[in-house]
Amino acid sequence: MIIIDKEKCKACKLCEKNCPVDAIHVIDKLAKTNEACVSCGICFRVCPFDAIVKVSDAADGPLCTHCPVRCAIPEGMTGACKRYTNVDGIITRNRKLVVDAITNEPGTRKLPYKPLITAVGSGTNYPCCRPAPFIVQEKIENLDVITVVTEAPLSYSGVKVKIDTNLHIGEEGAKVKRDGKHVGMITTEEYGSKMLTLGGANLLSHGNDGFIVARTIVDLANGRRVVLKVDKGSTMELQQGYPPIIDGQEEKLMRVGCGSATIGMFAAKLSTVVDEAIILDYHIIGLLSEHLAGKEVGMTYSGVVPYGTKSTVGRYFGAQGHGWGGTEIINPIDAIVSVDMNLAKEGMRILVTETTGQKAALFTVKKDGKVEEIDLTDDIMEAVNLIKSTCEISKVSVVYTGGTGGSARAGVTNFPRKLTDAVHREEVNMTIGGAPVFLLPGGGINFMVDVAKMVPDSTTWVPTPATVAPIEYTMTKKTYEELGGHMASIRSKEEILKELGL
Ligand code: SF4
Ligand code: SF4
Repeated sequence: MIIIDKEKCKACKLCEKNCPVDAIHVIDKLAKTNEACVSCGICFRVCPFDAIVKVSDAADGPLCTHCPVRCAIPEGMTGACKRYTNVDGIITRNRKLVVDAITNEPGTRKLPYKPLITAVGSGTNYPCCRPAPFIVQEKIENLDVITVVTEAPLSYSGVKVKIDTNLHIGEEGAKVKRDGKHVGMITTEEYGSKMLTLGGANLLSHGNDGFIVARTIVDLANGRRVVLKVDKGSTMELQQGYPPIIDGQEEKLMRVGCGSATIGMFAAKLSTVVDEAIILDYHIIGLLSEHLAGKEVGMTYSGVVPYGTKSTVGRYFGAQGHGWGGTEIINPIDAIVSVDMNLAKEGMRILVTETTGQKAALFTVKKDGKVEEIDLTDDIMEAVNLIKSTCEISKVSVVYTGGTGGSARAGVTNFPRKLTDAVHREEVNMTIGGAPVFLLPGGGINFMVDVAKMVPDSTTWVPTPATVAPIEYTMTKKTYEELGGHMASIRSKEEILKELGL
């Protein structure tokens, strides 16, 4: 049970924003709780004025023991992680167990790839020294197969977010914030995409912003739309599988390559329709006639000097921005710095476009070396559209990352280290929400998983804070025994599904 100090409450609404179960609202300039409060502790940890005090644990309902938060859940209400509900006085996992994974089985694995059941809806046995909630057995092609599932709270977890865009979103290393709270950072640019790393043990665990970090990881992993702001950079609306919206602008196409690569791919076509082409790109700007690909198709240098700092022949570096090709160029005429009339000819045509071919402009060279814009012709538009047609649709992709450390393995076996080794030897097949993982080499079980392949809405979070990952380990019964598995807790899949009414 919590109480609010009327004198200290400043009606800032931070408690309201952070409460996971909508149990506290600022009404008439004072925070007030309602019957849904489970005393999870978030509001009194985020309140900057110490206006909220926890006075007792158990008064509002039975304590949930599935994680160290120990929510006191009133009848009919749901705990802070939204996984457990008080049904007639009993704390009950409120999602039905999901049996079938949604991805296809690759033919190359030694073991059945798909878990016998997924861990989604399985619950957590806390503390983790207890056997996992379900240890399931089924015979597959005369082989006794075991799947062990648990929804494990992972303090060591986060998401990598891949944003297909040419636009400059901010400097590498810049903080990424949600509602003003630091949730991650920009890492690198990787071939047409900007990368964010959000979460991780330090942001999750230190200070009182870990709740919003956990919520952000789970929102993105579960396909919800999230607004993030980069320090001294862009505001982004991001949602798994959808185009990113950056500073209000929806990104449509992912570039086919850098400006130099675009010249390389399309030099033959471009050389038949224009005398010169500048392909603007935030990484490398390409100049057709000077580029080796231009030479390859019989061109000689035109005398055009493009915007940017020369890198190598036909390749220039520009500054990043929100202009053409993710450069700072807003007006395409600024892409042409000068024309050497000792080499150029009056009437020469220069195409300025970008790596996605979404914008294009045509210029003609005048006698004095100045240029003027003229209408694009059908044959030139055909070449530009060729570039455009080879681009892919921009989207946001989310990879959930985590490490199933010490106790998260104990529910599986009495010898956690043996489990780690067996997973690395592929004697145990690990999946998350039914999806295959990429296992990072080295010690521990550190994994990455494409959330698009997971059972929808698979992850949750607890206000320790940590995200909760549905983890499945599938192996032969013989392997499970060798690992020191909880053999006495094995039950047949048929029996479990019958018991759950599935
Ligand atoms: S203790 Fe938890 S459930 Fe109760 S009002 Fe605060 S944040 Fe909400
Ligand atoms: S947050 Fe923890 S204590 Fe609260 S309902 Fe979820 S598992 Fe139970």
